[in-house]
Amino acid sequence: MQRTEQNPKCDTSNKFKKQIDISELKFPDEKSPILTHAGDSFRDRTNTISESGNRNWIYPRKPQGKIYNLRTYVSWILLAIFFVIPFIKINGEPLFLFNILENKFILFSIVFWPQDTFIFAIFLLALAIFGVLFTAIFGRIWCGWACPQTIFMEMVFRKIEYLIEGNATSQRHLAKMPWNFTKIWKKTLKLSIFFALSFVVSNLLLSYIIGIDELGKIISEPISKHTGGFISVLAFSGLFFWIFSWFREQACTFVCPYGRLQSVLLDSNTIVVAYDHKRGEPRGKYKKKRDEDLGDCVDCDKCVQVCPTGIDIKNGTQLECINCAACIDACDAVMEQVGYEKGLIRWTSENNIENGDKFKITGRIVAYSVLLTVLVASVITLLLLRNPIDVSILRAKGQVGTVMENGNMMNVFTMKLINKTSEQQNVTFKTPKYNGKFTYIGMEKGVIEPNSIITGTFLLEIPKSELTLGTNRVEIQIVNESGEILNTVKTNFTSK
Ligand code: SF4
Ligand code: SF4
Repeated sequence: MQRTEQNPKCDTSNKFKKQIDISELKFPDEKSPILTHAGDSFRDRTNTISESGNRNWIYPRKPQGKIYNLRTYVSWILLAIFFVIPFIKINGEPLFLFNILENKFILFSIVFWPQDTFIFAIFLLALAIFGVLFTAIFGRIWCGWACPQTIFMEMVFRKIEYLIEGNATSQRHLAKMPWNFTKIWKKTLKLSIFFALSFVVSNLLLSYIIGIDELGKIISEPISKHTGGFISVLAFSGLFFWIFSWFREQACTFVCPYGRLQSVLLDSNTIVVAYDHKRGEPRGKYKKKRDEDLGDCVDCDKCVQVCPTGIDIKNGTQLECINCAACIDACDAVMEQVGYEKGLIRWTSENNIENGDKFKITGRIVAYSVLLTVLVASVITLLLLRNPIDVSILRAKGQVGTVMENGNMMNVFTMKLINKTSEQQNVTFKTPKYNGKFTYIGMEKGVIEPNSIITGTFLLEIPKSELTLGTNRVEIQIVNESGEILNTVKTNFTSK
């Protein structure tokens, strides 16, 4: 057989001799209409958009198979992690917090204050480079297996839809049927559960933004006390309800910037979900194979029917593919039925399909790895070198120096101290080059709670004899109980 020469690993000639009768093959849902994949239309528009510009609703068949089962278990673990993380605290700080409203970010319980924005920016850059490196090697596996949008859509909302409305064919029939009792109760039940779940997802998201304690207050205290928070919960619930009940796969295709960057992130060495066209083509219905010299693809379109983004992987890697591997399971089941080797669609690289090449560590991967190492090292170094106390001291606006009865010159200052550590700090100020005397206003005994800010005012007196006439640069040290200098700042002190 010519076909087996294309892929020596797959000698299916004996299987043809078995003369399997196509009527024996069980393809469930055989009569369900297949999505339109006419010609080269996939090059011009996504499958969710019709030629006239309307939405093509995707009714993917429920995937079945080992990979789908594995994905289900992974999603359970990830869902548990998503819900548990907001409750985890280390030294009183949440594990993660992304409070964009107050510009406070916490990663692994390390608080990033507005003054640390550059460290946070380098961290985000490192994260982006990690994403690029990971994608260059493993493709878009994040999207299909770990992205919260996919996990909630495919592993929670979609499963509920299958439970209530049945598999793809039943869903299609239900959508087409007039509004009768069955349709009304099924749709009402489904959408009610969807809204309740969207409300839960909305609360989950808010727990990452404002923290679980604040969220707890919004939930437990009267609405009048947290009108803004309550409106946010409802607004997010509405947004998620819209996404999971209507917008769906379009979030990955049209909105997600990561998805749109795939064309520049992937290369022919990247491991992706791919159709082995060398083995599969020319494709043809199974019956014809007895008479014609065809590839292993029996043109059943099972791979298309299970695709949650409605694409045909046989057309090659496409923007919409989230690497969920549902098509691998579907095709493997077909291969098993027709007695061919599995893996016509599999995780592989274009280079492997074309030339049988194994995965290579390319110059691009090395460059990204080096850059990532440098960025991670920079973030760790900057965090380690970060002053435990951040200080801002300014001479009070419009104030001139005051001569005290004891002959000292006095200036008034405002201060802002940030304790970036997870321990309480007891601090005092010192002027190493002057006999300065500090009187604090608004700082009780110099105590600053962990990861907190205090603001206040202090008076600094310096003997006039130690000053030059006019403006003097004065160094102020912030010292803890054991005499350790936590930070040093310079400020202007006027003797006029
Ligand atoms: S082509 Fe396959 S891997 Fe890609 S989204 Fe569709 S089913 Fe998932
Ligand atoms: S499921 Fe496999 S055999 Fe069927 S059309 Fe897709 S690639 Fe071909």
